[in-house]
Amino acid sequence: QGLSKHFPIHAGLIRRQIGVISAVDRLTFDIYRGETLGLVGESGCGKSTAGRTILRLYEATEGAILFDGTDIAGLSGEQLRRMRPRMQMIFQDPQACLNPRMTVGQIIAEPLDEHGRMSRADKRARVEELLDQVGMNKGFANRYPHEFSGGQRQRIGIARALALDPDFIVCDEPIAALDVSIQAQVVNLLEDLQDRLGLTYLFISHDLSMVRHIADRVAVMYLGKMAELAPRDALYSEPLHPYTKALLSAVPVANPRIEATRKRTILKGDVPSPANPPRGCRFCTRCPVAVDKCQWDVPEWREARPGHFVACHLAE
Ligand code: SF4
Ligand code: MG
Repeated sequence: QGLSKHFPIHAGLIRRQIGVISAVDRLTFDIYRGETLGLVGESGCGKSTAGRTILRLYEATEGAILFDGTDIAGLSGEQLRRMRPRMQMIFQDPQACLNPRMTVGQIIAEPLDEHGRMSRADKRARVEELLDQVGMNKGFANRYPHEFSGGQRQRIGIARALALDPDFIVCDEPIAALDVSIQAQVVNLLEDLQDRLGLTYLFISHDLSMVRHIADRVAVMYLGKMAELAPRDALYSEPLHPYTKALLSAVPVANPRIEATRKRTILKGDVPSPANPPRGCRFCTRCPVAVDKCQWDVPEWREARPGHFVACHLAE
């Protein structure tokens, strides 16, 4: 609720603060238990920052993060430590978070060591169970990350995220670094795990086709703000926000007859800097239908239709 994350900009020898980057600005939305909420937008729009702030990997600048009714933004010390296992993250680049000197078994067991005491035999059994859950051979526990392909390394990252039996996982571009041929396998694994373990996902991606496949509802961000959020089918068939419309018009369609007659919206100009965003609607410098008031009036985040949220002066 009202979640913001601003990063200070420092300059000069004494590192004087000269401004802030408004990476995430006053987001309010729900994620329902058991669902996949897709979060889309161009790179640099604040999706990853939002995901990390929700998990408290970054401290929120303002706002509340209600997890099962508890505002975790206000937790610290032991209370926060007890909450942490329930929320995990899967990263884009598993390579970067798998220590090359540790065996796969040690990598997967690391969260178990940090959050409780387990006998060696129990730990071994849990690691094998986790490897099995992500479709890997139990014998792989003694091997090292470099012995595996990108897709398999992502499976190791997923096993590690599952070690503490979480409820909620932020998947930050989990397939963006993988070959197209294995992206579907990893997505299918994530869906399968969700069904079996009752997981809830925030699925961050710039790939609208993939999000359409996996998400129950989809949220669109632009320059740190939420532009639109709707049930999947409503968002893809009846988008209300000009930015969502432009994004969707850029997604190729498989049917060449539709592709040939489709109208494309090409957005002019670049995304403005989040250190100096437009005053009114943050999309006003690129919006094809902007009116005067868009330049100074911040559009309210409102429920235009049941379950369909949008921030645009012109949306019905
Ligand atoms: Fe475009 Fe104005 Fe709507 Fe922003 S508020 S998306 S500038 S029409
Ligand atoms: Mg990102």
